[in-house]
Amino acid sequence: MPVNDQPLVQHCPEQAGAMLAEFIHRHPGLMILTGAGVSTDSGIPDYRDGDGAWKRKQPVQHQDFMTSLTVRRRYWGRSLIGWPVIRNARPNSAHHLVAELELRNHSRLLVTQNVDRLHQQAGSRSVTDLHGRADEVVCMSCEYRCKRDEVHERCADMNPGIHSRCCTGWRCRP
Ligand SMILES: [Zn+2]
Repeated sequence: MPVNDQPLVQHCPEQAGAMLAEFIHRHPGLMILTGAGVSTDSGIPDYRDGDGAWKRKQPVQHQDFMTSLTVRRRYWGRSLIGWPVIRNARPNSAHHLVAELELRNHSRLLVTQNVDRLHQQAGSRSVTDLHGRADEVVCMSCEYRCKRDEVHERCADMNPGIHSRCCTGWRCRP
């Protein structure tokens, strides 16, 4: 935390940057924790507004997913639109700068709440995906694993006519 315990948002960007640089140099071997805000510049929407309130429908919880067929259907239905957004996203400067901190030995471990794998794409190696990863699918009964794209294509084939503006090459109907 900054020395005076004031939130960084109260400082101008240059001042905040200088304070952060000083913090990084004073604390070698950092553990860095990131969340949705890192990926918004890559086009992946975050969940909460500036006050911490939910902007849209909350993400599906594991317990609900496991116990309700309706919830699972809705999840995969929404994924037809949502997955291509994540799949097509590319790392932004924040991901690259965090990767550089590891490369320069300023950080030892990166823990992310994001499932988009953009930190890994940017070159971070020591990453813990706290909430898992969106690019793979595992069967909760037999532990069969496959690429998310395989399930996505299967869902798309079974639901012709659902249009995704982010996915080119789909069978789209007007
Ligand atoms: Zn299975």
